[in-house]
Amino acid sequence: MSREAGEFRSENVHDDDLLRLAARYGTPCYVYFAELIEARLAALAAAFGPCVGVSYAVKCNPNPGLLGWLAGRVDGLDISSVGEMRLACRAGWSPAAMSFTGPGKRAAEIAEAIEAGVGELVLESVDEALTADRVARALGRRQRVLVRLAPSEVPKGFGDRMAGRPCAFGIDVETMHEEIPAILALGGLEVVGLHIYSGTQCLVPAAICANWRLFMAIFREVAERHDLAPQKLVFGSGLGIPHFDSDVPLDLGDVADGIRHEFAAFAAEPRFRGARLLLETGRYVVGEAGYFVTRVIRTKQSRGTGFAICDGGMNQHLAASGNFGMVVRRNYRMHRVGGGIPDRPVTVVGPLCTPIDRLGVDVLMPPLAPGDLVAVHASGAYGLTASPVGFISHDPAREILVDRDAARDVSRPPGDLAG
Ligand SMILES: *Cc1c(COP(=O)(O)O)cnc(C)c1O
Repeated sequence: MSREAGEFRSENVHDDDLLRLAARYGTPCYVYFAELIEARLAALAAAFGPCVGVSYAVKCNPNPGLLGWLAGRVDGLDISSVGEMRLACRAGWSPAAMSFTGPGKRAAEIAEAIEAGVGELVLESVDEALTADRVARALGRRQRVLVRLAPSEVPKGFGDRMAGRPCAFGIDVETMHEEIPAILALGGLEVVGLHIYSGTQCLVPAAICANWRLFMAIFREVAERHDLAPQKLVFGSGLGIPHFDSDVPLDLGDVADGIRHEFAAFAAEPRFRGARLLLETGRYVVGEAGYFVTRVIRTKQSRGTGFAICDGGMNQHLAASGNFGMVVRRNYRMHRVGGGIPDRPVTVVGPLCTPIDRLGVDVLMPPLAPGDLVAVHASGAYGLTASPVGFISHDPAREILVDRDAARDVSRPPGDLAG
């Protein structure tokens, strides 16, 4: 970024689009660039080859326009509720292409999913298996299931961990050999594979490879001990994206170089020859393809701190406010749309009457004036869907999908944000 006075140009290639779209559709808004998602999917395909597929985790961004766009571009969807299933169906997906995870599935949700023809239920406990078995039998079905396992360790480097300590997700590997036979014995269920998702938001290639190595060892041990020939093995990918200035982006080539041969050898083992290996990921596919654009309503100086008060804040983008699982609050990357010399710290806040509604604290920015736009980067995942949009009753942010030169308003109606 050139910081010499008078010659600063924003390096953000999307600024013209963001200015135009914000003017046309209003702010606050999310803008998703399909070409960036396409590039991510292409990079994954190039890195791991045809023996590894991608399962998209709907919970990171369930926008129906986006889900529709993803049809035919990923192998399947991982849903975490029947609400997500309904959304994906309305977006043109078949339930058969979906797996359904979540530790608290109720019998009615399981029934709705089975009746609709969901591809696999991902079982997180024996108790859930018993419920699913009962439901499947009552419907006269034999339901395909994956068994979700929770490893006893997660390598260092994962921002979020779903195993390696007491957790609600999956069956602990310490007790799996006693529990798996109880699932295999159920006539209403057909165990077609295994699933592990133990950590995410990792930017360290060696840690991701080490984690996948653990998965392969567990898959191998389970398949041998219980004589399984899985059709599907889900690797909760853990692939992370940079959010902060200090983050070094993940080098996917390093990940692939570190694991490619082991994946190939694993897939060639007799037990796994019929297995599809799936990387399950949300944020890595769509996170960096999205910007959150909010407009400065007014500025204020208070006791030496400059504030830019914007039309959308934590109510539209909880994660960027640091209130969604961030241990130490740091600023998401953001910039003033249209450039300018970043020469002063400013605290970027939303319109809510609470001091936690901060998008950026002391961010180095060009001078901001009312009407200016601030774009928060890496906002395509865990943005609107993970935000308390009901709090203080502002309209939800618009959502715009840009595919090549065509922009589409893919906003969900305010009453429809819960599926
Ligand atoms: C949330 C979730 C994912 C996706 O996680 P990302 O961090 O967005 O890649 C994948 N699998 C399961 C089971 C999940 O719950």
